[in-house]
Amino acid sequence: MVARMRRFLLAICLHFCWLAPAWACVDRLQLDGDFIQGGLVHGLVEPANVRLYLDDVETVIHADGRFILGFDRDAPQQMKLQIVRSDRRECVRSLQVRKRAYDIQRIDGLPPKKVTPAAESLPRIQAEANAIKTARARVDARVDYRSGFRWPVRGPISGVYGSQRVLNGEPRRPHYGVDIAVPVGTPVAAPAPGIVTYVNPDMYFSGGTIVLDHGHGLSSSFLHLHEVQVEVGQTVDQGEVIATVGATGRVTGAHLDWRMNWRSAYIDPQLLVVPMVVKSE
Ligand SMILES: [Zn+2]
Repeated sequence: MVARMRRFLLAICLHFCWLAPAWACVDRLQLDGDFIQGGLVHGLVEPANVRLYLDDVETVIHADGRFILGFDRDAPQQMKLQIVRSDRRECVRSLQVRKRAYDIQRIDGLPPKKVTPAAESLPRIQAEANAIKTARARVDARVDYRSGFRWPVRGPISGVYGSQRVLNGEPRRPHYGVDIAVPVGTPVAAPAPGIVTYVNPDMYFSGGTIVLDHGHGLSSSFLHLHEVQVEVGQTVDQGEVIATVGATGRVTGAHLDWRMNWRSAYIDPQLLVVPMVVKSE
């Protein structure tokens, strides 16, 4: 009984001590957004000359004190936001991240080599994975994401973020994007301004692929493209056409797969746009 009581008091103290210093060490800390797996949060900290870490991943803070944080598909339900001041004083705040239930999506009829690649394809697959990881790891001071996000194409949603994939009966990596089923040749518009950081017209799994960086570690990737119409280093405006939809890579039909990352965390694009309204003919 005494031991239980002690554990209980310790739990309260830990919780309290966890929360209290965040307010003690900065003048202001404001967080708004989706505290959910796949969610993006906008923050404001004053003073702005502090360093901020989400579970040891450092965020960029703009001169005006604004920053963003993202939660991965499998983010733990409790994450740690650590603030380090210029005088090295530190404080920590615990963030509660809501857990999601993901669908299981079964897809059959894929070419067997796209489900279980032959050994000779593995070096290519690895090289492509590294290149895209490097592009998404970019973190710079641009704040293009502040424009907000628009759908890159409009049409029926045929795949959602996070679903567990079973391809030709075999469990595979989850699906991280939102799939919009539209015909080959449909123009793909930039959902927000950005700089093109990666282009590959023919990736093993994702076919024609573009990574568009929106600043502060937030990027969009567009997969299975037919025609890529931008180059690495090019800056684009919101709504500018960057590609056309295709059926390249591991697909069963034409669609756009739009993914978003904050650093290496996969963000759910559907949480950043208004719900899709598609006119039925
Ligand atoms: Zn997809």
